[in-house]
Amino acid sequence: MTNSTLGDLPNNTALVMCEGVFNRERELNYVANEEDGPQAICALNHRDGKCEGMIVGLGHLYEWEPGLEFLRDLEFGHYAWKREGTWEIGRLEQGDNK
Ligand SMILES: [Zn+2]
Repeated sequence: MTNSTLGDLPNNTALVMCEGVFNRERELNYVANEEDGPQAICALNHRDGKCEGMIVGLGHLYEWEPGLEFLRDLEFGHYAWKREGTWEIGRLEQGDNK
C-alpha cells in the first residue's frame, strides 16, 4: 500500500467527479483518495445512478472552489467530508466503497 497524497498524483490523473458537482448544481461534499482512484462527489447517494460520475483531470479539483488546496495533502486511503461547512478528514474502511 502506498502512502502517496493526492498532491503526489499527476494533475492529469483521472478524477471521478459526479455530474451534480460538475454542473455546479450540487455542492462538493466528499473527496476520497482511494484504490479505484480519486473521487469528488456531492452528498447524494451515488449508488442509485441518479447522479452519474464523470471523468475530469485531478488538477481541476484544487481550483474547483476556493479553499481546496488542502486536498493535496489528503493521503491515500483517506477521505475529506464536508460537514456543516467544515472539512473533516477520515480514514476509509477496508473494502468501503461509498
Ligand atoms: Zn453527485
